[in-house]
Amino acid sequence: MTSPVTTPNGSRIYPEPLPPKAEDVESLDVWGFEDTRFSVNPNGHAVLLGHRYELSGQELPRLLPWVRDVLGIELDPRDVHESSYPTSIAPPRENAPFRTEISQFLSDGQITDAGRLRLRHGHGHSQDEMFAIKHERLERIPDLVVFPESDEQVAQLIAAAKRHDVVLIPFGGGTNVTGALRCDADEERMIVSVDMHRMGSVVWIDRANQMACIRAGAVGRNINAQLAAQGLTMGHDPDSVEFSTLGGWIATNASGMKKNKYGNIEDLVLDVTVATANGKLERATCVPRESIGSDLRRLLFGSEGTLGIITSAIVKVFPLPEVETYGSVVFPTLADGIAFMRELARESTPPSSVRLVDNAQFKFGMALKTADTGLKIWKSRLEQFVVVNLKGFKPDQMVVCTLVFEGTRRDVARQQSEVYRLAKKHGGMQAGAENGRRGYQLTYSIAYIRDFLMDFYIIAESFETSAAWSDVFPLISNVKKRLEAEYAARRLPGKVFVTARVTQVYQTGAAIYFYFGFYYKGVPHPSQVYNELEAIAREEILRSGGSLSHHHGVGKVRRSFLPEVMSPAALEWKRELKRSLDPANIFGSGNQKW
Ligand SMILES: Cc1cc2nc3c(=O)[nH]c(=O)nc-3n(C[C@H](O)[C@H](O)[C@H](O)COP(=O)(O)OP(=O)(O)OC[C@H]3O[C@@H](n4cnc5c(N)ncnc54)[C@H](O)[C@@H]3O)c2cc1C
Repeated sequence: MTSPVTTPNGSRIYPEPLPPKAEDVESLDVWGFEDTRFSVNPNGHAVLLGHRYELSGQELPRLLPWVRDVLGIELDPRDVHESSYPTSIAPPRENAPFRTEISQFLSDGQITDAGRLRLRHGHGHSQDEMFAIKHERLERIPDLVVFPESDEQVAQLIAAAKRHDVVLIPFGGGTNVTGALRCDADEERMIVSVDMHRMGSVVWIDRANQMACIRAGAVGRNINAQLAAQGLTMGHDPDSVEFSTLGGWIATNASGMKKNKYGNIEDLVLDVTVATANGKLERATCVPRESIGSDLRRLLFGSEGTLGIITSAIVKVFPLPEVETYGSVVFPTLADGIAFMRELARESTPPSSVRLVDNAQFKFGMALKTADTGLKIWKSRLEQFVVVNLKGFKPDQMVVCTLVFEGTRRDVARQQSEVYRLAKKHGGMQAGAENGRRGYQLTYSIAYIRDFLMDFYIIAESFETSAAWSDVFPLISNVKKRLEAEYAARRLPGKVFVTARVTQVYQTGAAIYFYFGFYYKGVPHPSQVYNELEAIAREEILRSGGSLSHHHGVGKVRRSFLPEVMSPAALEWKRELKRSLDPANIFGSGNQKW
């Protein structure tokens, strides 16, 4: 990278674009980088191939036994549900006049109808999409993928789509879990996926005013690297940060793990430029706050590609913290942990990140431990002895809270003493910085496990919600009980796995994140069964006072629930908004269409 340019009259830095790294190729058929995936080694133990993550190359002797135990099954690593990826790829539908027009302003290298690329652009990472590309079929996928490189090309694409009645679906990192990129099967028009990756640079950084202008296709890991090179951070770190994009974050109203310090995406974005079917939405100035009538920018957060294409945004940036350190606390029960989180959010300033995992996830973390040797075995047995025998924690009830502290040394010391004081009040016992650090590091490797387990007939997925504090504990317990009962009633194999964690805290409530999975060998249409059960869980969530979504969004997975959470007048307003900006439904992905 060459050194950044600074304008003579101002504080703006124009960084050189990051050159793409040859090793950062992403898999088309599973989550993540091509060089990383779980496998079973000759000892019959799980191992994460590759070299990127702390877990890479490590043997995980407890993982498969843990899976057998929680699902109540005899998992045989030789009994593999072979993937038939790519199951079948329908030929593209043609719209010759559109294609002729776009080839006048896009080069050949910016247009493709290659089957596997079209397939990849027709889905995110929800279980049913991943199951479909391996074992079933996606009914409808984009007919063409285009890679615009400028705002002007985006505007020209939209104009051509309007003229020739073509559907455009913006594509960021393809990491959503709501079916937001899936094409509606009954769409007759040509569907074009607009891949934003080539519009992925940091345009400028204004250090004096703590802002940066970033193009919407910028991937999180690159934003972080480019800002860190200037000693800055945006502070937005969703668990998908390696692959998701700024445009995708805005379009889904995303939430990063450090929102306590930096805010959610809507707190971080100062301004957004959007290309719509009616022209460009942009502002003359970027100021910290205004009172100029209803804030139309708000309507773009969570728009899921239905109103236009976000081409860039001006975001807040912050100096990198002097200190970043981790922590962890074990609590006797989930109720104790939640009471601690609640008091922390109300009475104190919570650290950058605070996450509480239930007992099942605590044990899952243990199952991801590598083979211990010598001193490590002795130390871990001693710790277990102290926790279980001297402190009286019950192994089947205890939960763990992991923490990230950031700031100056003094700030961090103050936060730590406050957090540990409150934790003690709720029966918590400090479990060390290393356990906390490990918990956060594991996040990126865990994302690869879902595809690995699907090889052994296990289907799993996450779903999330938010709720007022008084509803958090009952909601978790209601959802678990409901899924267990529904699972048993259907006489599905083994045991269902449902686990929850509290991932974000607010003064008034919290975000709750569930994992749910089961063994499907012998079950007809397992992905459909999963969807039915998840819909039942969603009903239970709404009945228990939870939201339709805290950060994943609506897409197609949750669109049928919209009338349950919005009044008829609000729905009509939503419909009118769409009609006013996009009368011909060019942005016809069908997301949020109830
Ligand atoms: C392992 C994993 C971990 C995750 N962790 C988190 C998390 O911690 N927090 C969180 O909030 N979410 C998380 N998600 C969900 C997902 O990463 C987010 O929804 C993310 O914001 C999607 O961004 P993307 O760039 O991948 O968008 P895509 O999946 O490509 O698109 C999502 C939607 O946004 C639209 N869109 C994308 N780019 C644009 C644009 N430029 N203009 C207009 N519309 C656009 C698309 O049309 C689509 O409707 C996770 C998902 C996975 C699989």
